[in-house]
Amino acid sequence: MNSRRLVRVLSLERLAQSAQSVTLRTDFALLIDGQLEQSAHHLDVINPALGTVFARCPAAHRAELDRAVGAARRAFPAWRARSFADRAALVKQLSQQLRSRQAELAELLTREQGKPLAQSVAEIDRGAAQSDGMVGIEIPVEVLADDNDKHIELRYRPLGVVGIITPWNAPVNLALGPLVSALYTGNTLILKPSPYTPLATLKVGEIMKDVFPAGVVNVLAGGDELGAWMTEHSGIDKISFTGSVATGKKVLASAAATLKRVTLELGGNDPAIVMDDVDPKAVAKKIFFASFVNSGQVCMAIKRIYAHESIYRELCDALVAEAEKAKVGNGLDPGTELGPVQNKMQYDKVVGIIKDTKKIGATFLTGGDIPSGPGYFLPPTLVTDIADDSRLVQEEQFGPIVPILRFNDVDDALRRANDTRYGLSGSVWTQDLQRGTEIAARLEVGTAWVNQHRTTSAFVPFGGAKESGLGRQYSALGLKSYMEPEVVSVAKR
Ligand code: NAD
Repeated sequence: MNSRRLVRVLSLERLAQSAQSVTLRTDFALLIDGQLEQSAHHLDVINPALGTVFARCPAAHRAELDRAVGAARRAFPAWRARSFADRAALVKQLSQQLRSRQAELAELLTREQGKPLAQSVAEIDRGAAQSDGMVGIEIPVEVLADDNDKHIELRYRPLGVVGIITPWNAPVNLALGPLVSALYTGNTLILKPSPYTPLATLKVGEIMKDVFPAGVVNVLAGGDELGAWMTEHSGIDKISFTGSVATGKKVLASAAATLKRVTLELGGNDPAIVMDDVDPKAVAKKIFFASFVNSGQVCMAIKRIYAHESIYRELCDALVAEAEKAKVGNGLDPGTELGPVQNKMQYDKVVGIIKDTKKIGATFLTGGDIPSGPGYFLPPTLVTDIADDSRLVQEEQFGPIVPILRFNDVDDALRRANDTRYGLSGSVWTQDLQRGTEIAARLEVGTAWVNQHRTTSAFVPFGGAKESGLGRQYSALGLKSYMEPEVVSVAKR
């Protein structure tokens, strides 16, 4: 079924389901050692489009974590002994299952996360495609020297048990990247979703129960403290963390005690530099989408737009036109393009930035009003005439408000774009591809795009420079970060 038809069918189903949605959904379980389990504790999950609790799931505490780690350790020797091809075949079974249960998962993802249904469908599609892509990557033994005297090889072996901690903005996709990386390279794992969005991940856990041997994959919902217990646990060998810079620093500090390997995928404040030779209307569509998709709650969303003064006014007008036609609403309603902010904490933060931006006298081209609810909705908001040292320019807003800043000299634009502690990604927009490439290479980021933003693939490393992260996900480079390099050096005589 194609995505558009699926959205239509689900919208009709929703009408029938809305009557039931007043009853709390509780059909969720932890996955520990191949068994689905309940717990003495629970999490209430809010639908951000309504601002009310719609589901309850079990929450793991230390005892469950210890049992999951024990199971993962026991499962490790047999799992690592399997070939890459065997492990790849099971990952492909998982992605097939994700595709066949896409409708159910997407609907749940929209209810807990808020994003439009078509984007939930796309998140699951993309996760499955990237999973299939990653298990096609080979990690061969590398021969470093081979002559009459010596043979030196570089081999890679799995680390052991990996702890994966994920955020709330794209819970399925951001779990699958590290999960498939860990499994394919021979590790076993514990996966912990955000307490704001645990449900679709727990359902993926149910699917994985029937695909992988007991103990290889364990899925534990829980609060922030569960994440902290994972980072300090002596039975976990690596943490793959996706989340905020502030928590990433705590993860790194905690992991130091056991010298765990760590991959950190953290926040961003991505600049887009729009040069004088673009067609403002043509680029506005793409730049608007890359800024406001998922209501700006994307690590690599465009968060600052630097526009050359010769196209500045036209670009502002074209972006405002895009913002004013974007339909904001419940992600389950047909035609919705922008859903709510995912949770109250983030909503309050974005509202605070809007208020500060008003207080300093910046110009609101569109948006800026704060609807009374229900739900955590904010309109797409574009701001100009704002100082470089304002909160909106300096902080990661992670919501539907973006500043447009004027420049007339590319060196000045680059200096301002790089004047941040963040370094996730950025983009340059121009018809001159050679010049665009040269400017992009001067951005201090993990990924610099030309005439695009947010394009990733299983074969291309992704991660942050500066405080946006540590290490890379995806590609052979990413996969090797779930492995220990080992040199085998043979003297021939
Ligand atoms: P967060 O840091 O608050 O939480 C992320 C996860 O960490 C959650 O599962 C949370 O329960 C857990 N956690 C909280 N405290 C912990 C601790 N002390 N030790 C271990 N785990 C702990 O982040 P968030 O608000 O859920 O997510 C939004 C942030 O994530 C944004 O900054 C966004 O840019 C970033 N992000 C980065 C990427 C990337 O690939 N670079 C992708 C998506 C989101």
